[in-house]
Amino acid sequence: MNVTYACCQCHRTNREPLTDGSTQLRCVHCGYEQGIPAGAIRDGRLQRCVVCPSDDLFVRKDFSQRLGLLIILVGFIASSVAWFYYLQLVAFGILAATALIDVALYLLVGNLLQCYRCRAEYREVAELDSYEAFNLETHERHRQQEARLAQMGMAERGAAEKRLAETGRKGQAGEDTTGGTAD
Ligand SMILES: [Zn+2]
Ligand SMILES: [Zn+2]
Repeated sequence: MNVTYACCQCHRTNREPLTDGSTQLRCVHCGYEQGIPAGAIRDGRLQRCVVCPSDDLFVRKDFSQRLGLLIILVGFIASSVAWFYYLQLVAFGILAATALIDVALYLLVGNLLQCYRCRAEYREVAELDSYEAFNLETHERHRQQEARLAQMGMAERGAAEKRLAETGRKGQAGEDTTGGTAD
């Protein structure tokens, strides 16, 4: 089994192998290390996300929507070119072929396990069928939680900036401390 996750410090993507004995994740880009919660992997089975560590996980197709859209877009452009040169049949053929390629790719790719909360992806997971499929309610719960946290973070930052500005005013002119309000 392996996990693909975004480092919480530098936000870049990492992929690391996981076993029962894994105790920490280490970012290959910035070296940031974070511990894996005890019992997250038991008997080769993922009990909870090793990154965030929520136990809400869902199974989904290992299919990149971006790639799917790209194929459709390329097909659309190619068929437009064919249409321009009065090759109607070729144009329709290209459109049909790209749609078929998309469907075939979707059917061919395997499944992966994903965390609702931090979107970490787990591949080569044992007993993948025993995990639940995507649930909109759970997704919505996590989305709202995330929005609340972001709001709280913003309010906190606003308060901190206000405090900073006030102390800057009390002291000297504050050359570099009040620059944070620029954005
Ligand atoms: Zn990092
Ligand atoms: Zn997670």
